[in-house]
Amino acid sequence: MSIAIICTGTELLKGSCCNTDLAFAGSHLTAAGMPPVLELTVGDHRDELIFALGTALKSADTILISGGLGPTGDDITLETVACFFGLNLSIDPVLKEKVEKFWALRHTGRCPKFQYKQAMLPDGARYFDNPAGVASGIGFDLVYAGQMRHIYLLPGPPGEFETVFSTGILPELCSRRETQLFTVGCFICGIGETLVARTVEPLLKSLPLEIAYTAQSGGTKLFLSGSDELMVSAALEQCRNAIGSAALPAGCFSLPEYVVAQLTARGETIACAESCTGGLVADALVSVPGASACFPGGIAAYANEVKENLLHVPAGILASVGAVSAECAEAMAAGAAAVFNSDGAVSTTGIAGPGGGTPQKPVGLVYVAASYHGTTAVRELHLRGNRRMIRERAVAQALLLFKELLDGCGADVC
Ligand code: ATP
Ligand code: MG
Repeated sequence: MSIAIICTGTELLKGSCCNTDLAFAGSHLTAAGMPPVLELTVGDHRDELIFALGTALKSADTILISGGLGPTGDDITLETVACFFGLNLSIDPVLKEKVEKFWALRHTGRCPKFQYKQAMLPDGARYFDNPAGVASGIGFDLVYAGQMRHIYLLPGPPGEFETVFSTGILPELCSRRETQLFTVGCFICGIGETLVARTVEPLLKSLPLEIAYTAQSGGTKLFLSGSDELMVSAALEQCRNAIGSAALPAGCFSLPEYVVAQLTARGETIACAESCTGGLVADALVSVPGASACFPGGIAAYANEVKENLLHVPAGILASVGAVSAECAEAMAAGAAAVFNSDGAVSTTGIAGPGGGTPQKPVGLVYVAASYHGTTAVRELHLRGNRRMIRERAVAQALLLFKELLDGCGADVC
């Protein structure tokens, strides 16, 4: 089976909406051993969708199409796809009832005619329940260009797409899966993809597997895919051993996950004091389910008065070396640990730009500090990128520094 995904939506092409449907489907299909071979994004135009269908059918026997199943004039997916394959559309009695029920929940009076567009099915098609919305998922199988094809249509809104995909379409695809591509991966902290590649590729060059890297703030994700599950897992283990402690433990794919898992296992806590990142460290930690076990809170200490009054950064430091300094970062981390009575703390202070830089303290100069059981480390960073990138990189570097302290103090338990 080879799967292609077509995403429809002019908003996706204009960049006003991120293609999270693709990310969701791609990651779940890959995890299920069926990574998609192709993706095409097209605007809400009939000709573009027809072009995409024709192109996708050249390399895939299974095609997932997202979006354009709504009741309005710009929702053209169902009629375009039916017309492409020469299928008639008719109203399905079960879907008709669902459409009428949904209408009655929100409106008075009779369900208008245009709404019944969402009760239509092509000849021989089946539907997949969508409890999150009106449009159901649709699937049909037919022979096209001498080959059996499986076509699936899914509603575009992410909540609906994800429900229909996970509950209806993915299980069906798994039941049709003949061969499986196993993908395993790990996160490597503080090392760029070039160095990771130089370390792992000599180990893997004779093995029948695919290697993929994803560079991220704070490290690199390494993925290995192959049809022999044992071989792929053993190869990853070999890579992890060669990389050493920079490779996070199996199943742990981010620094915040690692920090939360380590501290939770130790029954310990971390707090944060953030200037230039303004809450992003706290957000990264809280994004990990179960963070409440180890994260009491943080202080976004942007103004000097807040650094001084809430975190007890000495006024002398602010007056002499300033807020963007190693001394201030160290005092902020110590202050956060004291305020929250935590075992550890991290802090960030720097110039995220675009303005505010000077020759002595240019944009991108950031100090991060980490403290753990009384040991404090500070790191001076010269980060590149725009304001968002500098702030994200500062978060990763602060957590990386904290990991280094943690690793010096106990065994990996993630
Ligand atoms: P609706 O009934 O809401 O119109 P639909 O199935 O017709 O649903 P679209 O009209 O294509 O879907 O998209 C509706 C909204 O869903 C878009 O405005 C966008 O916010 C979101 N959306 C659509 N496709 C995607 C996608 N690939 N990734 C993320 N969000 C998407
Ligand atoms: Mg729509």
